[in-house]
Amino acid sequence: MSCNGCRVLRKGCSEECALRASIDWIYGAEEQGNATLFVAKFFGRTGLMTFITATDHSHRPDLFRSLLYEACGRTVNPVSGAVGLLLTGNWDLCEAAVETVLRGGAPKPISSDLDLSSLGGSLEKSGTMSSEIDGGGDRRIPPRLLNLFV
Ligand SMILES: [Zn+2]
Repeated sequence: MSCNGCRVLRKGCSEECALRASIDWIYGAEEQGNATLFVAKFFGRTGLMTFITATDHSHRPDLFRSLLYEACGRTVNPVSGAVGLLLTGNWDLCEAAVETVLRGGAPKPISSDLDLSSLGGSLEKSGTMSSEIDGGGDRRIPPRLLNLFV
């Protein structure tokens, strides 16, 4: 039987299907299909499968989760994406968008009157702080941003 990912993408499925393992962590057949469709639309079906097959088996669920959050974050916050939501304390908007997608809805871009301009401010501030601590230099990447990927 086709996995829920291949079913919505109308592609052949197999026992060793890379997509099956990637979406296994999502609870519910419909939800798995909805998530696959959304991520495949965002990155392109070929793009999605390229990401998945280039990644080690054990990391595929994490990869898919990360792509789902990235796609949702970028949809609700076109300018600075999921990272922007995280840095401005609006991560709940990203999680809400993921919930919407899993339920089969389409998240909308947040209205521009929501103040995300503090993102620029906080980046500038931590840039200043880092040059104070390090005694100047040409560091463009604030330490806070690096910590995200540790
Ligand atoms: Zn499959």
